[in-house]
Amino acid sequence: MTDLPLHADVVIVGAGPAGLAAATELRARGIASVVVLDREPQAGGIPRHCNHFPYGLREFRQLLRGPAYAAHLVETAKAAGVQIHTEVTVTRLLEGPALQLTTPGGIREISARHVLLCTGVRETSRAARLIGGVKPGGVVSTGALQGMVYLDGLRPFRCPVVLGTELVSFSALMTCRHMGIRPVAMIEPAGRTTARWPTGLFPRIQGIPLMLNTELLAIEGRDQVTGIMVRSADGKTRRIETDGVIVSGHFRPEASLLRTSHLRVDQGSGGAEIDQFGRCSDPGYFAAGNLLRPVETAGWSWKEGRAVGRAMARSLAGQLPPPEPAAVVKPSGDALKLIVPQRIVPSDTDPALPRFQLRVNRAVKGRLLVSAKGAVLFSTAINALPERRITLPLTIIPAGASGPIDINVKEDPA
Ligand SMILES: Cc1cc2nc3c(=O)[nH]c(=O)nc-3n(C[C@H](O)[C@H](O)[C@H](O)COP(=O)(O)OP(=O)(O)OC[C@H]3O[C@@H](n4cnc5c(N)ncnc54)[C@H](O)[C@@H]3O)c2cc1C
Repeated sequence: MTDLPLHADVVIVGAGPAGLAAATELRARGIASVVVLDREPQAGGIPRHCNHFPYGLREFRQLLRGPAYAAHLVETAKAAGVQIHTEVTVTRLLEGPALQLTTPGGIREISARHVLLCTGVRETSRAARLIGGVKPGGVVSTGALQGMVYLDGLRPFRCPVVLGTELVSFSALMTCRHMGIRPVAMIEPAGRTTARWPTGLFPRIQGIPLMLNTELLAIEGRDQVTGIMVRSADGKTRRIETDGVIVSGHFRPEASLLRTSHLRVDQGSGGAEIDQFGRCSDPGYFAAGNLLRPVETAGWSWKEGRAVGRAMARSLAGQLPPPEPAAVVKPSGDALKLIVPQRIVPSDTDPALPRFQLRVNRAVKGRLLVSAKGAVLFSTAINALPERRITLPLTIIPAGASGPIDINVKEDPA
């Protein structure tokens, strides 16, 4: 690839909503060279595969399908003077900052004053979920299904089972409907759908049984799935005849680059450890979008990308406070799954992330306590379910605080 420069002011990894929004913002703030790299043949990120509504309301005040929304993001970025290079995979993050790349023209490097990581999320595979049985064809993630259906026009099965009830699982139902695929059941191990009410009505309206309190034990079949074994809460097992399994949700940040780099990874979110400006443990690197936490909407990721782009422009102008000292915020106990950002630097500068984002591991009811050195600094009531958005203002941490801050939940007695 000849027109890919050796150096840019900012290089962004990932041309999804977060990366493209940040790139557009950086150009609008006068940053001369902004390069976005993506390993896919086309820019736009996940929405390219999601040929359904609703996208674009927050960003463009239009109700768009995913591909139209992705095209809109790409056009806006290009019109702002962003250079987008596709079929470029970033293989290593180096100090400097600099990136090792594989391109259609071979292996090379690019350096930058700042790098922004926006590599999104991926669904947990069947193997990682320890689902038993054989490994026939017809077991796919929602993302893979959408690629097959919307990009390649394929119908991998006719009557699959959908595993999971996150928002993305309902996106899988819409994809099936588009291709005339008729799921025979939607299976959820918990006693309620993970996505908010009224999503649970959607399969019922379509006549698809929603099987709560049901665990997938094994997948059967040789070349193609022929059936699955499930167990319900009363311990009874049964077989369901089906020709496919859509293993949906259980997202993890796409953090392979982080794990082989010098940057700190946050154990709770599985993504980059950042401060309130989106700045990583090496201040030449920033991160935004779903890489920070699984998983938010496109509009949220876009807004976050734009805000982190703004903070990067400030950083390039020498207007961000030093990254140290910082208050290091960590969840303790087993109720809280993650908190983002993890580091708060004392500063009057507007944060890119003005609120903490939290998630819980299970249904939790009680009081959320923020403490330092054993003293409670703040407390508030919490009544939350897994995978639901919880936010709190950064001001729950007293101004000027540094050192470890503990966030814990004191649960109400059962
Ligand atoms: C099936 C599904 C349906 C959804 N439906 C909706 C919906 O209806 N409405 C909504 O608002 N949201 C929806 N979402 C969520 C939304 O798509 C995401 O929130 C949004 O795309 C996140 O943006 P992002 O920029 O963080 O990451 P992504 O869109 O995931 O983009 C990340 C990009 O990084 C690239 N990349 C990763 N690693 C590398 C590397 N090493 N080198 C180069 N490039 C790399 C990837 O190719 C990708 O293009 C859906 C998500 C899924 C999975």
